[in-house]
Amino acid sequence: MAELLVKNARLIDGISDKPRDSVNVLIRDGKFEAITEEQIEAGPGTKVVDLGGKTMLPGLFDCHAHLAWDGLTDIRLQSENDSTALAAMKSALNMRRYLETGVTTIRDLGVHWFGVEARNAMIGGTVPGPRILASGPPITTTGGHCWWCGVEADGPDGVRQMVRDLAKNGVDLVKVIATQASLGSFLFPGSASTPNPSFTDEELAALIGESHNLGRKVTAHATTPEGAHQVVVAGIDCIEHGTDFTDETIELMLQKGTFVVPTFSASWMQAHYGHEIGIPEAEIERRKKMIADPDRARGVARAAKAGVNMAVGTDQGSPCTPPAALINEMALHIEYGVVDDPMVVIKSATSQAAKLCGIDAFVGSVEPGLVADFVVVDQDPLADLRNLYSPAMVFADGEEIVRDGALVPENPLFFT
Ligand SMILES: [Zn+2]
Repeated sequence: MAELLVKNARLIDGISDKPRDSVNVLIRDGKFEAITEEQIEAGPGTKVVDLGGKTMLPGLFDCHAHLAWDGLTDIRLQSENDSTALAAMKSALNMRRYLETGVTTIRDLGVHWFGVEARNAMIGGTVPGPRILASGPPITTTGGHCWWCGVEADGPDGVRQMVRDLAKNGVDLVKVIATQASLGSFLFPGSASTPNPSFTDEELAALIGESHNLGRKVTAHATTPEGAHQVVVAGIDCIEHGTDFTDETIELMLQKGTFVVPTFSASWMQAHYGHEIGIPEAEIERRKKMIADPDRARGVARAAKAGVNMAVGTDQGSPCTPPAALINEMALHIEYGVVDDPMVVIKSATSQAAKLCGIDAFVGSVEPGLVADFVVVDQDPLADLRNLYSPAMVFADGEEIVRDGALVPENPLFFT
């Protein structure tokens, strides 16, 4: 029986609206056992960590990641040209960076099958990394957005068979490309968006129905009001990126409990840092215009204010979007006016994200019985969410895995 006593924490538990001071947390065999302002006596052999009033919060989630992309070069070229070995090495580096950022769970939304392989490598102890829920390759129409990193399927029978094939090969969830690219790939400006949905209603009904039948949630890349409405009507669990939702769509999302993962980071990061990786000036200008007049942010903010479920995700792996962009993404939820309260954003990156993933009974908040994934930061994240950069300590399954921004080498998790 391994015990860890964390003393004198300022606790943000991921559920409550306010932090609690001077909290003591007992962790036993990788799970939170007791959380109290009362003193807890450390038994013989119990490891004790005194936080001296520093803030402790649940391990963060990035609900939209692409581990096999490096964030430096064009995503289509990488998807078409990278060898399996190179993609695996990029994935391993991003997994480490996630841990160093305090991210202990991600949803990998697909570059071919690499996310599933990364998950298996992490579970097997080959590579340190966050918990990974992997969609495998996204399902797109023939020639649809992301066909170069996904799988193409058409017709109700075709998409149903594809879902079965994905499930057979071990995906945790299913991703569908329901609309075209919002910006296009910067080396392929011809791939600009149309607002039209990509799949028919019948195809979506078959895809979502069969995924649910097989116990998998379904998330949709949906970047136009028309496409978002179609997938919400069809019963999608989550919308990636989002758009200027209509009032009718927002009403339906409320009724059905649909989530939105806004992914503001990629365009913001490209507008600010695109020149450093050689994005053409005209493309940087497009992104600057986009973030100066963010229709998408307005639509997402209207949905959030109406009470639609939000979770935080970056589109990590897109150009200029490394794992640490998660912290910037959280700050953008405030700066784009989606919500006013940093505590709500922390919930969207912890307990709400866990709910989206369907694992909230297991992880995502600091509560008795849940897996002890947590982060310790020196400065108050409620004063400025960017204080979450460079956490002082990160724990996964009750084990310290990051100290002062670097992996803890003696951690037994890495040598199983
Ligand atoms: Zn993406």
